[in-house]
Amino acid sequence: MRDILPDEAARWRAVENVVHQVMQAFNYREIRTPVMEQTELFARSIGELTDIVSKEMYTFTDRSGDSVTLKPEGTASALRAYIQGNLGEQGSLTKLYYMGPMFRQERPQAGRLRQFHQFGAEALGAMAPELDVEMMLIPLTMYRNLGISQTSLLINSVGCQRCRPPYKELLRRELRKVRAHLSDDSQARIEQNPFRVLDSKDGGDRKATASMPLMKDHLCAECSAHFARVQELLKKLNVPFEIDGRLVRGLDYYTKTAFEITSKDLGSQDALAGGGRYDLLVEELGGKPTPGVGFAAGMERLMIVMEKRDTTVPGPSGPKIFLIGLDGPSRTWAFETACALRARGIPAETDYLERSVKAQLREANRQHAEFVLVIGEEELKTGTGKVKEMKTGRENTVSLKTFVQTFS
Ligand code: AMP
Repeated sequence: MRDILPDEAARWRAVENVVHQVMQAFNYREIRTPVMEQTELFARSIGELTDIVSKEMYTFTDRSGDSVTLKPEGTASALRAYIQGNLGEQGSLTKLYYMGPMFRQERPQAGRLRQFHQFGAEALGAMAPELDVEMMLIPLTMYRNLGISQTSLLINSVGCQRCRPPYKELLRRELRKVRAHLSDDSQARIEQNPFRVLDSKDGGDRKATASMPLMKDHLCAECSAHFARVQELLKKLNVPFEIDGRLVRGLDYYTKTAFEITSKDLGSQDALAGGGRYDLLVEELGGKPTPGVGFAAGMERLMIVMEKRDTTVPGPSGPKIFLIGLDGPSRTWAFETACALRARGIPAETDYLERSVKAQLREANRQHAEFVLVIGEEELKTGTGKVKEMKTGRENTVSLKTFVQTFS
């Protein structure tokens, strides 16, 4: 878990602004859910056998004996809120987005933290493949607007409750034949979670499973048509993509489309964003049968890529004006005037350390103040002073009495 210090926080804010703008452009509405939930919500949605639920969640018993868990991802909470808040009643399609901290007790490494931040969206109430494509386009649009275009879009279909069980059995049979060549982890997964064996990064596992049957070649007619339509739409929109028949993602709830956006600028943790369709999840969580699709993207990894690409967005600038007082009365004037400007929403700063004019000017420079105004005995007597624009050195004489109004 790490701190986001002021310089970095300014860059985060600029990126968050882009996230909000693009979500708005796609007509998604923000939802804010609590930082923790009842543990059962995640066990039921993400899946008992996934890495997240079985070994990564921050789970504890609170003082009333309830088991609670810090959110490891956003979809389960968003859907719980959708069901509890009756959002489905308001229209047949509900578009939600969120942004916030998530928690997973993973082994920390570059691009993998225990508290990280995600932004994501969920569209609930429609089966349309257009929405699957929309979920890919939202993060891609954000990345493009932030100056990042070198990303890869990988897509797959993980089938549905009709075509997945027979395929899973077929895969298990094939995996048992090569059991001896698989890593310990993968051997353990054959019976419980055979999909994850295909997803293994282990070289030996890759070799042993090189010619395994893939879900995308065993889809039912409905899933197959859906997957074809997603590809057709991506082509129509000129969005480059690759089909990755091994992509399963670490969460159990996906049906049909699954996708990931990766960047070569990241190390082994190369996923910037991931998502997919989850047509059974709302019902699973106690709501009415409602199809859905969503994505989640990591903020920290986005910041890493932006830094590597040198596309850092400008953070909010320093104070608009730095008011410099030379003696007691002019310092008081500077403080009063700074407060009056701030009350009008103008970022203003003054000195609190009784520094010399030279030191105050240096400080104004360091903070990237746009203007400075130096006030001393003489200025207070005549009621006029000179405002200097730091960048050009240009000076303007102003009346102190009306300064707050005129400068505003
Ligand atoms: P997931 O919820 O696992 O599909 O993750 C979606 C995105 O969140 C990933 O593509 C990453 O960008 C980000 N992410 C997931 N886990 C972490 C983590 N432990 N640290 C930093 N970013 C993460």
